[in-house]
Amino acid sequence: MAIKQNSVVTMHYELKDAQGEVLDSSKGQEPLVYMHGASNIIIGLEEQLEGKTVGDNIEAVVSPEKGYGLPVEALVQQVPAEAFGDEIEQIDVGMRFQAETEQGPVPVVVTGIEDGIVTVDGNHPLAGKELHFNCSIAEIRDATSEEIEHGHAHGPGGHQHD
Ligand code: ZN
Repeated sequence: MAIKQNSVVTMHYELKDAQGEVLDSSKGQEPLVYMHGASNIIIGLEEQLEGKTVGDNIEAVVSPEKGYGLPVEALVQQVPAEAFGDEIEQIDVGMRFQAETEQGPVPVVVTGIEDGIVTVDGNHPLAGKELHFNCSIAEIRDATSEEIEHGHAHGPGGHQHD
């Protein structure tokens, strides 16, 4: 069976950046389970997994445009330290939190604190990065009609509905 639209795929993966640093990996953990063609994973990886079969080992290089996009300047904001109130004591570079915006909560990372100004970046941490995946396909099955309706895989490694 080859990976196609609405296949439920179980795979192990390792993600490195262009410098070879490991960013994410399923090694030593449960494999990733996703439904193909349902935007469960980034499009650039999905394209390169199409047609692969169990046992295949795939090296896939994904451009930022087909990965997590390019960084958007507007998502980088300068916030006066006073806006954090007493919590400013806990704010440090590299810290992540949810910023309340008019569009709802957005995950941001603190990228700088200087002269009473805190710089926060709401871009995805992998925005602008070329992604180097190594994937090994462990299992492929057809999605159930319920999974297709929901747009995600169910069962072990998939979406759990309580
Ligand atoms: Zn579901």
